[in-house]
Amino acid sequence: MAQEKILVIEDEQDISQLVRASLERENYQVQVATSGQQGLHQMEAFLPDLLILDLGLPDTDGLTLCRELRRHNRLPVLMVSARGDDIDRIIGLEVGADDYLAKPFNPKELVARVRALLRRSAFNSSQPGGDTLQSGSLRVQIQSRRAFLAGEEVHLTPIEFSLLRQFMQNPGQVLSRQDLLDRVWGADFFGDERTVDAHIRNLRAKLRQQEQHFDRIQAVWGVGYRFD
Ligand code: CA
Repeated sequence: MAQEKILVIEDEQDISQLVRASLERENYQVQVATSGQQGLHQMEAFLPDLLILDLGLPDTDGLTLCRELRRHNRLPVLMVSARGDDIDRIIGLEVGADDYLAKPFNPKELVARVRALLRRSAFNSSQPGGDTLQSGSLRVQIQSRRAFLAGEEVHLTPIEFSLLRQFMQNPGQVLSRQDLLDRVWGADFFGDERTVDAHIRNLRAKLRQQEQHFDRIQAVWGVGYRFD
């Protein structure tokens, strides 16, 4: 299997060296860019499978870069920033990162997050062709990872897509936040359950942009979520 490629956009050298060493030890191929401008060039030349993006960069900031990227690219993005930044905003509709890690972080946790993001995107793109899930006006094409509501495409991030797919495969069942973490992020994910809530909020908001009263993803108080 070819080595998976990870681009790290980070201007602090001690952090980028730590990230590079941790990932190379796990046999990932790593390139480091120290500014947003350099990062964009390397995106085209290196064609990474995943992007690790620092929030504070010398020439731009990670939020702007991620927002730009999200307009035409579904590459998994792990955002790294100082503790205390608003997680809801970072993985929110406004920015669209797939996951978030606060500095200082444990390199093992970084590797686990990277592995989970890559596994999910590989899993999602290796599904057998032709399978479509349909429920009322909602349709999901698994292989091409596209979602449609009332015939109009809804542009989802990889995590939002995986969440929607879990719901559509388990209609009427209550899925706990932990169920969703295990199924969508993977069993070795360290993150907390608020991450699930943030992504579901985004997913619902996108569906509501298309269908104003879309309410088929219901919170079940104290438990999790149910798709009706
Ligand atoms: Ca920085």
